[in-house]
Formats: sequence, structure tokens, C-alpha cells
Amino acid sequence: MPIFGSWSKAFCNLHEVAHDLARIAKIRWDIGYQPPAVSSSCSFPPELIMPTELSRRARKLTSSVIREILKVTASPDVISFAGGIPAPETFPVDLLHTACEQIFAEEAREALQYSLTEGFLPLRQWIASRHSADVDQVLITTGSQQALDLLAKALLDPGVTVLVESPTYLGALQAFSLFEPSFRELPCDDAGICTAELTPADAADARLAYLMPNFQNPTGRLMSAERRHDVCRLMGDAGVLIVEDDPYGELGFNGQRLQSLRSIHPEGVAYLGSFSKVLAPGLRVGYVVAPAWLTAKLTQLKQAADLHSSTFDQRLAYRVLASGALPAQIDTIRKLYASRCDAMLQALQASMAAEVRWNRPEGGMFIWLNLPPQCDSHLLLQKSIAVAQSTRVAFVPGAPFHAVAPRSDCLRLSFVTVDAERIRIGICQLAENIRTM
Ligand code: PMP
Repeated sequence: MPIFGSWSKAFCNLHEVAHDLARIAKIRWDIGYQPPAVSSSCSFPPELIMPTELSRRARKLTSSVIREILKVTASPDVISFAGGIPAPETFPVDLLHTACEQIFAEEAREALQYSLTEGFLPLRQWIASRHSADVDQVLITTGSQQALDLLAKALLDPGVTVLVESPTYLGALQAFSLFEPSFRELPCDDAGICTAELTPADAADARLAYLMPNFQNPTGRLMSAERRHDVCRLMGDAGVLIVEDDPYGELGFNGQRLQSLRSIHPEGVAYLGSFSKVLAPGLRVGYVVAPAWLTAKLTQLKQAADLHSSTFDQRLAYRVLASGALPAQIDTIRKLYASRCDAMLQALQASMAAEVRWNRPEGGMFIWLNLPPQCDSHLLLQKSIAVAQSTRVAFVPGAPFHAVAPRSDCLRLSFVTVDAERIRIGICQLAENIRTM
């Protein structure tokens, strides 16, 4: 029997872990949510604590570096380029309000009832027609994040190889990591995966390739048309399923879209879509379009996870889509994001030292900054959010976006939630902080 001191320490750790897990489950740490302050002392009444062990899986799940950032970003004096969240002023509040009233007036009981795991049929039909798919290939998910989790459950065993871009989306790494795959980073440049450098052996033993061809998180880059064809051919030949994650595809500033990987290679791609960036993330409505055999398996897994996504929210999203308001909504978002991106690019140009490099995104929400090699972005963050600073600036350091070989000389900036004037002030301060590192 352990002595009391060890138990109480273990319980405090358990409390912390439980708190982290609850937070990760409730929030996605990529969304800029400000969690309530945590007391450092253990406050669980001892009689409520189950002296049981967490699973090996749950123990492995850790909170991220972003936790540290989230603690400070809500403070009004912090200029935050850290959140992966859309600009809230773009949410179609009036449209959603009207749709809510219509639902309550016309279909309240259906909208509040349990429903099918596959999702609301008219919404699935709307998605199927946009993606030239059969409706039985479409599964509605609770955000595309749930699709990542379901795909991991369906496809990953410990040790199987998952191909990822370098860098890649943190939330996918977290979802996949629970199933203990072995990640392999593919070489990338500004046009996406460097397909010319890949040999069939690079893909031969892999189970899936996780790719974001459009305005990738975290770099904002766009995969070229040629590389899209190359990567589909390569993965198709190797029998590797491509997971095409596309939450930013509609956010190209010039309104044009390159061919999706799914449209090039429909039988080898699971396409993930989301209404989070074009309507509102709080609705938690996303979807998968995949070969029917895979959609059927994902549906079973979803049933086990949550029965179905919110009936009400699916109907709400559908009402807005069916009203024909989406194109104008997307246009508003594109214009705002393009102007903020431009403001950030101008501020970077005006204030950064010559050794600092960044890309010029053509859409999406992010710019990726490469720092001089001696500059560690984690230390830069600590310095930038220190209370002693007159202007505090937050961003996400680059290391956690790397699955295998973390690089600390890079960082992610979101340009969408800060207005142009504060972008200028924040970037100017960041440039000064880099210069004086
Ligand atoms: N994939 C990528 C690349 C993302 O950036 C995000 C959100 N930050 C998601 C998936 C999850 O989005 P949601 O669950 O809101 O659809």
C-alpha cells in the first residue's frame, strides 16, 4: 500500500492529466479557446477520486505547447497571431438566426430527436452533388476533426506507417498518435510534396498519406496542379490511401480552385470537408467523402463514438446552404482574409530583418515564417508574451507541427483575427524581438 504522500501526489497528477484530457476533449487546442484558470493545488475531494489507472493510450496523450499560449492570448493587451480560428465577424449570425427560427417553427421535433449516424439526408445529398459522389459515400462528422479520429481508428495499428507533410496539422498528429503509428515526413517545398524526390519505396509500406493540398495548416501553401497528379499516381501505385483534409479549400483569395485529389483519384482518397471555416466552427459540422467500403466502416465507428452529429446543427447548416447564401458568405470571408493577409505581408516586408523568410499565401489563414538558424521560436514566444513587454505578441512555434524532426527555427502566424492596424503593430514588435534574440 503506498504511503499517503505518494497517493496524494499521484492523485494530483491524475487530476492534472484528467484536466488536460477534458480540456483537449472539449477544446481543440488549435482553436484559440481560453480555458478557465487551473489551480496548481489538488482540489479533488479525496472521496471522489477513483484510484484507478488511465489506459496506456490516455497516458500517452499530452497537452501541447499551445496550452501555454492560450493562457495569455485572451488578455486584451496581447496581439495574438496564434489561434487557428476564423474571424468571428464573418459568422453568418443573421442567417443562422433566421434558420433557427424556421427550424423551431417547422421541424422542431425532428431537429431535437435522435437521428441516423450517416447524417441528415438532404445535407448528405447536397455534399454528394458538389463532390460528384454517391450519397452512401458521404458521412457527416462532428467537425472534420472527428473524421481524422475515425480514420485513425479504422486504419491504424501500432507501428504502421503514416506519411505526412513536413510540417503538418497538429490536430491530425494528435488524432493519429493515439493509435501509435510510425510517422514518415515527406519532403516539401512551397508547391507541396516534392514528388520528384519520392521513390516508390517511400510509400511502399505505408497505410495512409495525410495531405492538405489547399492552403495547408500551418504553412498556408498550395499544392501545384502537377504535384497533385504525381502524388495521386504515386500513392495509387503503392496502394496507399490518401486522406485529403480540405477545410481551407474555399478560401482562395482569387476564388479559383485547383482539382481536388479526390477528383483525380476517387477510389484512393478519403476527402474531409468542413463548414467550420465557411459558416461557423461552433456548429461542428464536417464530413467525409470516401469509397463506400470505407464510409460504411467509418459510420460504424462513429456510431460507437457519438451515435450521430447534432441533428439540430446539421439542419441549421443545411438551411443556410440550401438558401443559396454560401457563395456570398465565402466571398465576404475571402475579401476580409485577403486584406488581412496583405496587411501582414506588408508589415513583414517593412519590418523583418533580411534573414527572416516567409511565404506569400494565396488563401487560407496562415503564413509560415522561417527564422535565422540561431533563433529558437519557443524562446522567442516566451520573450514575446512576457508581461514586461509593452506590446505582447503571440504565435505558434514551429516545432510541434513536425511529426518526426522538430524544427525550432520557424513559426506559424494567423492573419485572420487581428485588424490591419494591430497586425502592423504586432509584426513590428515581433521583428524587434527577433532582432534582439
Ligand atoms: N484539419 C485542419 C487542417 C484544420 O486546420 C482543422 C481546424 N483547425 C481541422 C481539420 C478541424 O476542423 P473542424 O473539426 O472544425 O472541421
